[in-house]
Amino acid sequence: MADASPILLELNQLTKSYGSGKVALDGFDIAVRKGEFVSVIGSSGAGKSTMLRCINHLIEPTSGTIVFDGKDTTKVRGRELRRMRRRISMVFQNYNLVYRATAIENVLQGRLGYKSAIAGALGLYTEDEKRRAFEMLDHVGLADFAYTRTDQLSGGQKQRVGIARALVQDPLLILADEPIASLDPKSSRTVLELLRGAADKFGITCLVSLHQVEFAQEFSDRIVGLADGRAVFDGAPDALTSSIVSEIYGGDSEEGEQ
Ligand code: ADP
Repeated sequence: MADASPILLELNQLTKSYGSGKVALDGFDIAVRKGEFVSVIGSSGAGKSTMLRCINHLIEPTSGTIVFDGKDTTKVRGRELRRMRRRISMVFQNYNLVYRATAIENVLQGRLGYKSAIAGALGLYTEDEKRRAFEMLDHVGLADFAYTRTDQLSGGQKQRVGIARALVQDPLLILADEPIASLDPKSSRTVLELLRGAADKFGITCLVSLHQVEFAQEFSDRIVGLADGRAVFDGAPDALTSSIVSEIYGGDSEEGEQ
């Protein structure tokens, strides 16, 4: 990733308070370049998920602005929101697959944002979309499982289907919310390699929340440390010292609650 790459995503003073009065995100700033792989680390309750969810409007920020691909998307709604979401894929800790459907059917769902509601409901995908979905399943090493129901797959395989679905969406940005939290170390590594590859090979910007500092250091261009809704570190992996790690994980967070 070149330093001269344009900025793809900018969050300015992003703040989110929940109805409970809890300030989950407290004036968070970040600018992420095209093709950059940024890990967001922090304890449970630090605000990682809140930040990721604000970006594609799964939740609405209380204040601050979001600029995505050169447009202020803070207040987008309706058709504009749908158009924006096409270019932002999500990868979830719990995979969010349809388990009674096959791997290829799940991957094709990554194309839903490009179709009318009727075409989507009827599963009317073009030959090109089907070919791309197979290519992406092959890319994540699951070509032989295309017609396997996803409830038959291991956790690591499920997450790879989730990544194939994210890639077939043709995104500019992948938001991955704790994508390896339910996986063993070997599957975790495979999943992070695939996300890193998305940045390196396809120029897709990746914003990935992680618990594991070592993985963040190994795979990221840049690490953001969140504590109590604020960025307490934003820099290169090798600038993350053990005292900063203690600061990130030592705050009054909710480790163990979730
Ligand atoms: P992380 O992803 O770092 O674990 P979250 O963004 O999930 O952190 O949570 C940040 C804070 O916001 C926590 O204190 C959490 O309890 C609170 N929170 C998250 N979601 C909600 C919600 N829907 N309603 C009220 N409080 C919430």
